[in-house]
Amino acid sequence: MSPPNAPPAANTIVEHIGGTPLVRLNRVPQALGIKAKVYGKCEFFNAGGSVKDRIARRMIEEAEREGRIKPGDTLIEPTSGNTGIGLALVAAVKGYRCIITLPEKMSAEKVSVLRALGAEIVRTPTEAAYDSPESHIGVAKRLQQEIPNSHILDQYANVNNPLAHEYGTAEEIWEQVEGKVDAVVAGAGTGGTITGIARGLRKHNPDVTVIAADPVGSVLALPESLNQSHEGYKVEGIGYDFIPDVLDQKIINTWIKTDDRTSFTLARRLIKEEGILCGGSSGSALAALVEALTKTNPELNHPDKTVVVVFPDSVRNYLTKFIDDTWMVNNDFIPAAVSSKDAKIRD
Ligand code: PMP
Repeated sequence: MSPPNAPPAANTIVEHIGGTPLVRLNRVPQALGIKAKVYGKCEFFNAGGSVKDRIARRMIEEAEREGRIKPGDTLIEPTSGNTGIGLALVAAVKGYRCIITLPEKMSAEKVSVLRALGAEIVRTPTEAAYDSPESHIGVAKRLQQEIPNSHILDQYANVNNPLAHEYGTAEEIWEQVEGKVDAVVAGAGTGGTITGIARGLRKHNPDVTVIAADPVGSVLALPESLNQSHEGYKVEGIGYDFIPDVLDQKIINTWIKTDDRTSFTLARRLIKEEGILCGGSSGSALAALVEALTKTNPELNHPDKTVVVVFPDSVRNYLTKFIDDTWMVNNDFIPAAVSSKDAKIRD
């Protein structure tokens, strides 16, 4: 087997955003009754470790091109962490100050990486409604009014969020499968990933089926009757309590509600059985794929069909969370016996 071609030397690490691997899954979907070919778009290969590096780069470079921001200015962004890491990385390379407002729920690992990249962090209560002054969005708005030459690029409304995926991620997928793609599956947070990929792929083939994962407790799914529960959930990066402007809810053919236990269990299986070192929302996306192909969209569950699922970030963000047996037991996602049996094997 020949190794992949190494890209030429880069001028900065920012050039290593995009161009991520697409990898066939050989075990987990099959074990769950999936007959279609499934490929994972491994977004954790981006320089900052997630799919959100793409929008960070595009939002900053477009704002620079339009003369709205310049190095030395302050970039403030409310995020669940990965957009913050992408922005902090591009900001570090280009010379911006970066302030990230982040709900308490988000992992300590993300905070450590943000700090290492020189970002200033403000934690906000997870339960604060998006339009309250204490929420990560409310606090970002206040800081922007207080700090001179500061800007919120605003991933929730910035067209460059979905455009990064329409022009980037979708084109890459289309080329990587040589146009043979019948469906795409991704989790929705801002919705930029799924909306942009849907638009990009449908330019090539209007019949591509688009499937989105939305956690139980979030309100993004359609029909609205799917969104009965408003309980909190532990998977990070997907789901919201409002509909972001960049999410085109109707471009999605099938919305699937996902739960924490299935998401974390599948993410752990992707790691253990496929060697895909993904984060928890990758498990949610795979859960949505399995439910869609076995229940709502059985026409896609055929060996001639090809489905692409987006894996947004890496286990690096969750080393003290779902990958840790004790955390899984403490949150009642696996029985204690499973972890003690593993412990005995290790002894
Ligand atoms: N998974 C993770 C881990 C994320 O950080 C995000 C970004 N919020 C998503 C999925 C969803 O991406 P998008 O905001 O483009 O919908």
